[in-house]
Amino acid sequence: MTSTDQQPFLSVRDLKVHFSTEDGVVKAVDGLSFDLAKGKTLGIVGESGSGKSVTNLTILGLHDRDRTAIDGEILLDGKELLTATERELEQLRGNKMSMIFQDALASLSPYHTIGKQIGETYRKHTGASKAEARTRAIEMLRRVGIPQPDVRVDDYPHQFSGGMRQRAMIAMALVCDPELLVADEPTTALDVTVQAQIMDLLKDLQQEFGTAIIFITHDLGVIADIADDVLVMYGGRCVERGTKKEVLRAPQHPYTWGLLGSMPTLDGPVDVPLTPIPGSPPSLLNPPTGCRFHPRCTFKEKVQGGLCSTEQPLLEITDGRGAACHLTADQRRDYFADQTATRSH
Ligand code: SF4
Repeated sequence: MTSTDQQPFLSVRDLKVHFSTEDGVVKAVDGLSFDLAKGKTLGIVGESGSGKSVTNLTILGLHDRDRTAIDGEILLDGKELLTATERELEQLRGNKMSMIFQDALASLSPYHTIGKQIGETYRKHTGASKAEARTRAIEMLRRVGIPQPDVRVDDYPHQFSGGMRQRAMIAMALVCDPELLVADEPTTALDVTVQAQIMDLLKDLQQEFGTAIIFITHDLGVIADIADDVLVMYGGRCVERGTKKEVLRAPQHPYTWGLLGSMPTLDGPVDVPLTPIPGSPPSLLNPPTGCRFHPRCTFKEKVQGGLCSTEQPLLEITDGRGAACHLTADQRRDYFADQTATRSH
């Protein structure tokens, strides 16, 4: 369950997504479970190749069905998505669930006006007339803060700035009032001011529409701003889960410590150097045995019997909180107390 006592709107259980490639099978997602309630935001954080984007493409049914082996369960408002037909998924996308991506320019067609693209999405799912769709497009552009929406509705994507294109994509994603919005690094390519505006816009729209949001990012600063709950992914698995406060204020997993340690803090001392996580993310063709983080983990020596390289730590979740690590609770508490002291000195 999430941090609230609401029933989950989206429920993912033991999801496995494996791709066949010429070099072998890539275990992109390997046993992932989480819930998301209506009107809440789940932040999924991790490096490139951690499985966060693959998870969301699978939820949206946008994976390559011929080359992908999927196991597990994805329930959206009680409907099983993994056994849904392409037609059913098509109907759900845009209507019940929608998405925004990092690159608005690649997601918008250069050949059609912004208004036509937003309007067509609306028409496809509601059967509205062209005139109704245009009115709706103007209304959505106004909601996302495009000035003179009744004029700009006839612009082509190249006539919009990067921030405006991102807003237009959000307008298109929300035109049918979806109940689930997947936002995959939607602000990464934007400058900080526009980034902040887009985040505020998403929060406002969430309040207005009650949308459940999955927000994918590699940036814990963004998570701190927008998420209710956080799921940290590494090597295709969830390594830590909890509320935003729990994960950011009292993280339990060495990988999350690493992510936090490589991030500047506003209130921390300027003379404490940032420490990047050593090494690189694991190959998912041939993932490390035991804990997938062990080749990069500077804490594995503290665990008896070389367990980290031989036995996969279980993710035990209690009240939405848990981390997959062989360190004892005392070891984690001691480490984090030391770290907090160093960073606040
Ligand atoms: Fe590090 Fe071992 Fe914990 Fe993995 S299980 S994060 S290798 S201490």
